[in-house]
Amino acid sequence: MAASILVVIMAAARGVPPRTAVVEITFSDRADLQRIRATGATISRVRSDRAEIYVPASRIEALDALELPYRITEWQPAALPKGRENYHDYPEVTAALAAFTEGYPEITNLVSLGQSEGGRELWALHISDNPTDEEDEPEFKYLATLHGDEPIGTELCLDFIGLLLSEYGSNPRITGLVDETSIWVVPLANPDGRMLGQRYNLDGQDLNRSFPVYPEDYSGTFFGGDALSDAGRPVEVGHIMRWTAENSFVLSANFHTGATVVNYPFDNEPGIPSGQDAPTADDALMESLSLRYAMNNPVMWNSPFFTDGIVNGSAWYSILGGMQDWNYRYVGCIDMTIELSDTKWPDDTALPGLWADNEEAMLSYLEGVHLGVRGLVTDKKTGLPVWAQVRVRGNTQRVFTDPEVGDYHRLLLPGMYDMEFFAPGYIPYLVRGVTVEEGGAVRRDVTLSDGDLNGDGWVEAVDIQMAIAAVLRQPGAVDADVDGGGATVTDVQHIINIALGKSPEPRPSGW
Ligand SMILES: [Zn+2]
Repeated sequence: MAASILVVIMAAARGVPPRTAVVEITFSDRADLQRIRATGATISRVRSDRAEIYVPASRIEALDALELPYRITEWQPAALPKGRENYHDYPEVTAALAAFTEGYPEITNLVSLGQSEGGRELWALHISDNPTDEEDEPEFKYLATLHGDEPIGTELCLDFIGLLLSEYGSNPRITGLVDETSIWVVPLANPDGRMLGQRYNLDGQDLNRSFPVYPEDYSGTFFGGDALSDAGRPVEVGHIMRWTAENSFVLSANFHTGATVVNYPFDNEPGIPSGQDAPTADDALMESLSLRYAMNNPVMWNSPFFTDGIVNGSAWYSILGGMQDWNYRYVGCIDMTIELSDTKWPDDTALPGLWADNEEAMLSYLEGVHLGVRGLVTDKKTGLPVWAQVRVRGNTQRVFTDPEVGDYHRLLLPGMYDMEFFAPGYIPYLVRGVTVEEGGAVRRDVTLSDGDLNGDGWVEAVDIQMAIAAVLRQPGAVDADVDGGGATVTDVQHIINIALGKSPEPRPSGW
């Protein structure tokens, strides 16, 4: 083990990536998949009794020991076959993004998330009406080509950027989306792998198997103070993690190839074996969002392998260290893994058809970020934004306000919901009976109080008296509804508790 790590480090130091075999292997049951993974191979797709796996050259002997039939279909890094010239490589992606920002400076902001192991930038294009500001808008992201040999997503991202920019100001649907959404696009997340024609990064690491694993690496949320745990990960993954944590993403997708399906979380849930459904607390919402994409992509929708072109990740095959589960569990963002084509890297004559199949799907999925309930959470006394947790009663998942603006966006299917708001040092707040309908999100702004009604910096008898005056409806009484239930004795009780030194207010049960 130590020797093979040393080989990887030495190879990377010389700039020579380790060789990897792409292998088609036949297996008989799910236990075989576990044995395959235990050799150090990465499973990249599964169909009936066959899997495509990636095996470092040094691990081929371990694969032989399994005595399962296999054949090597390709070695990576690989020279690209002819007919792929119209794909954008790293310098061409860089040039295309520069041209976009030059052509549309008012609605674009190009940043680098950091450099890859090989010194290439991880470009992220922010598209919005005020692209350098944080606004009361939901944040959305598309990210492509974590796997360097799955570059269709890069092309679709560039097509998508071109669509948004060129139709802004003339197409009302697109103008509205750009004005009302904070849209981020990372067309090429693994530029070194892409330039080498290989799945892995320069160090031979699988970026979509290198995110923190629940519950080994983290058990809580970013908001809850759980450490980011980015140390020791591939540099590209570290950049993506920090960027994800710095922004308050609500909905996102990352593009791959090798199948044609929308794969939604969980990819892995402790205790649920691979091949079985691992639903999140938002399973119906996840299915609905997946269908938004799949039903607008005729190839997915008519898939002979996946009902309606969608699948729960674990029900297909479980993976550890993927990006989507980490997004949902750690920062409250619904992320999905969208597989765009059964052929990983088709001839470039396929690209116009792929764009035609995905254009409406990409727009429709983006529009999903405007469902549910949204609003601002501010401090009752100062009016300043509060970094708060937002939860729907009866659902364990929580989302978080953007600390710079205070806006939250809780995606929900139509229905009636009780919404709970919580932040350390504040009295928990409950909004009952919020009705969500089809179409745009309903707005519920919330102010949180620490019980200091007169704003003198202390919670004491005078604040209690002010709350009592409000409950008794005395003339001139202040608004003392600190918990969302109207001016009642519970407000008085909250303030008494804080005055008695029980601050910060204990969390509501189950938080
Ligand atoms: Zn992939």
